[in-house]
Amino acid sequence: MGMFAGKKILVLGIANKKSIAWAVAESLKREGAELCFTYMNDAIEKRVRPLAEELGVSLVLPCDVQDDKQLDEMFGEIESRWGSLDGVVHSVAFAEKDDLSKRFCETSRTGFQLALDVSAYSLIAVAGRARSLMKDGGAIVTMTYLGAVRAVQNYNVMGVAKAALESSVRYLASDLGKENIRVNAISAGPIKTLAASGIPKFRELLTTFAERAPLGRNTEPEDVAKATLFLLGPLGSGVTGEVTYVDCGFNILGL
Ligand code: NAP
Repeated sequence: MGMFAGKKILVLGIANKKSIAWAVAESLKREGAELCFTYMNDAIEKRVRPLAEELGVSLVLPCDVQDDKQLDEMFGEIESRWGSLDGVVHSVAFAEKDDLSKRFCETSRTGFQLALDVSAYSLIAVAGRARSLMKDGGAIVTMTYLGAVRAVQNYNVMGVAKAALESSVRYLASDLGKENIRVNAISAGPIKTLAASGIPKFRELLTTFAERAPLGRNTEPEDVAKATLFLLGPLGSGVTGEVTYVDCGFNILGL
């Protein structure tokens, strides 16, 4: 019996097999979880459905996190199919490429709103709806990055969005704790994914990171998956409101 046998988990943010959410989904499946995947639009649906089939996931629903109606419909469908929910993996972020390459002081108002809406508000929108299905308590895990607390070159408005996301984790943990719902974030080291490819000079970042990180290597999606399972499952029962670094120790370094 796996650690997640009989547990129902919603996974947001699978774009392809390089996605952090895919590594998490594979690990959850190995541990016996029943999963729901989502896709943002028709083009992504074509990529996500075969991945769902590969893991034997039959519940695959549309969800653009900027669309309240779609969020309502998705949770309505989860309620009618599952009746309850035990966990959510929120692995979603977006910023205009232009806003990551310009000077930070030139960030546009619309770019700021878009990055904060998709990457930070979406956690609140999801948690607010998930809680009513988490009748016996539950756990929510989101993905963040060091750029929330340090000024990382080229991370720009996404850093501000991640700061809002980390703060939202604390407020949600404080709010939902009385319902035995835990909310945590993992601050992952840089990993080559679709989202990361939008960050200028990302390849150089990876090289420098592996040279300097105490463990002398880059972070793998599987590293993040293991920590996600800890925070989502029974081993993390006393942990909420935390940002856990899974970055081979990079964040502890000074110059
Ligand atoms: P990814 O594979 O590109 O995943 C990002 C996901 O966000 C995609 O599935 C994307 O869907 C989805 N998304 C974007 N806008 C959305 C919207 N409006 N509604 C619903 N979904 C939307 O990249 P990833 O690196 O695994 O990113 C997952 C999370 O990890 C993000 O929060 C990211 O910031 C965080 N993170 C990544 C790294 C890294 O170095 N890779 C490090 C630390 C933290 P589409 O494909 O349809 O756009």
